[in-house]
Amino acid sequence: MKVNHYRTVESQPVTKEGAHGCRVRGLVGPADGAPNFAMREFEIEPGGYTPRHSHPYEHEVFVLEGAGEVYEGDTAHPLRAGDVIYVAPNDVHQFRNTGPERMRFLCMVPNSAANAPVTAAPECSVATGKS
Ligand SMILES: [Zn+2]
Repeated sequence: MKVNHYRTVESQPVTKEGAHGCRVRGLVGPADGAPNFAMREFEIEPGGYTPRHSHPYEHEVFVLEGAGEVYEGDTAHPLRAGDVIYVAPNDVHQFRNTGPERMRFLCMVPNSAANAPVTAAPECSVATGKS
């Protein structure tokens, strides 16, 4: 077991092309010995966004603070604190902070899918891997 406060984990800038004003903390993941899932916390500054991208695994997202939108392809869905988002495998998606405050959300990804190793996408992760 691991019990930790998220602020003890240093946030890192999301450097993947297409990201702006976005930082990530790797809260739980393979480095902790977690065999199946990684939990990441994202902070997006006003006007910031994650890369528009897709991948063959899902995201499970919980919005903690702020307001913004998530793009599903070209369709924007408004977001606010408390919203829960399931991004299905291969959905093209992007998170944008359209509000005046910092936007924070948790994003879970599987470490593996269909018995094949899948790493967390670098846009979302402190680990290296392919998106
Ligand atoms: Zn993604």
